Amino acid sequence: MRTPPLASGSDGPHALRALVAIVLDALQEGARGRGGPLPAGGPDAVAARVREAVGEILPEQGDPHAVHTLVRAFAEGAADPAHPLCAAHLHCPPLAVAAAADLAASALNPSLDSWDQAPAASELEAMVTRLAAEEVYGTGPACDPDSLVTTGGTESNQLALLLAREARGGSVRLVTGANAHHSLPRAAWLLGLPEPTVVPAPDGRLDPAALAETLTRLTGPVLVAATAGTTDAGLIDPLPEIAAHCAAHGARLHIDAAYGGGLLFSTRHRHLLDGLDAADTVTLDLHKLGWQPVAAGLLAVRTAHDLTALRHRADYLNAVDDTDAGLPDLLGRSLRTTRRPDVLKLAVTLKTLGRAGLGTLVDQVCAHARAFAALVHDHPGFELHAPPVISTVLFRPADTPDTTVAAVRRALLTDGRAVLGRARLGGRLWLKATLLNPATGPDDLAALLHLVAESRATLVEGQTP
Ligand SMILES: *Cc1c(COP(=O)(O)O)cnc(C)c1O
Repeated sequence: MRTPPLASGSDGPHALRALVAIVLDALQEGARGRGGPLPAGGPDAVAARVREAVGEILPEQGDPHAVHTLVRAFAEGAADPAHPLCAAHLHCPPLAVAAAADLAASALNPSLDSWDQAPAASELEAMVTRLAAEEVYGTGPACDPDSLVTTGGTESNQLALLLAREARGGSVRLVTGANAHHSLPRAAWLLGLPEPTVVPAPDGRLDPAALAETLTRLTGPVLVAATAGTTDAGLIDPLPEIAAHCAAHGARLHIDAAYGGGLLFSTRHRHLLDGLDAADTVTLDLHKLGWQPVAAGLLAVRTAHDLTALRHRADYLNAVDDTDAGLPDLLGRSLRTTRRPDVLKLAVTLKTLGRAGLGTLVDQVCAHARAFAALVHDHPGFELHAPPVISTVLFRPADTPDTTVAAVRRALLTDGRAVLGRARLGGRLWLKATLLNPATGPDDLAALLHLVAESRATLVEGQTP
């Protein structure tokens, strides 16, 4: 057998060009076969079609058509975040330019655990992490921020807890709002920290008065984690008030801006993040409001010195004499060892679109949310939870029990006609539209609401004897 072509080297681009053409055809055929935001039929039917299309995964003799067969099946059975009726989660449609850059990352396969595996990538990462830190904390002389590249909000939140634990002498109690992301209490569990204290978030936002009362009562080192852009409702905790209470009680502050962090790009919306720079650490996640393929997380830290807690030696990656001789030491910039250059697609996106281009995308999705909320508000058959703050709209059919609301969502999923999320707030179940597609038009939003109304009517009629 001839050696299969490699992705890099002098022949790499030639081999890749032919294969990429096949992949692109398969993507197009798959999308046509699906015909909507989600494959129809529900989990069993989709799984059966995938098994049928793929056949044997590891045949005795290889199959040269496998890339076409599998990519086609993968695309046909995908939830396509670029479809305007795919709006359930913080699952963004990636920009073409970012996906194209990611191909180069895969082809060259640099690994950011040592400089000799990633010479240009390590400098690019240094440039992007410095920029991200300055976006959050500014560039004043009194300020020495830094940031790390992560796999997303979950890893960023874990690192934030770890850095807080190390900065506070080996243990810290996490205090979060009831609205915090599930990865925060889970990180406390992972790190062996005390049981987190949960502060009420009656309107979906952490209650600052209840936080002050909690901080007065607690003894020992505390890390408060606030949220800028809740997963359920896209709400932003009252950051300046929370920061003031943390300062008054000597508590460390983390802000989980996995969703809201993207607002930094927008001149019109970045004021919503006032107070962000008071945090010791900030989670950012550009595979949410940043149009990146997964993964594209960052953790910004106000004081670069905090990162010394991650310093680590492995002679084959960062020997002391290599470091002394000037080879950059990358091992302390992550808990991972082998690490993909996720920074390339990020850098390409930032430079291609510029601040104005990214800001426009943010403003567009926020405007879509306001437009959709207005449609809901003006429709007598629907109830709006609240005006949107970022790009999430919670709504529900009026006079409808929670079980029917849940059934409407599942019916739309099963038919593959629309993908909506769900959120329980104020004791009731809401449908959630997370609008992250800048190309969505007014007709799409009207179609989405119409589909929900139609599905509810069908379900309610079905129940009537
Ligand atoms: C999505 C999200 C996370 C987790 O991020 P992943 O990239 O999925 O790991 C954390 N916090 C908030 C507020 C989120 O919305």
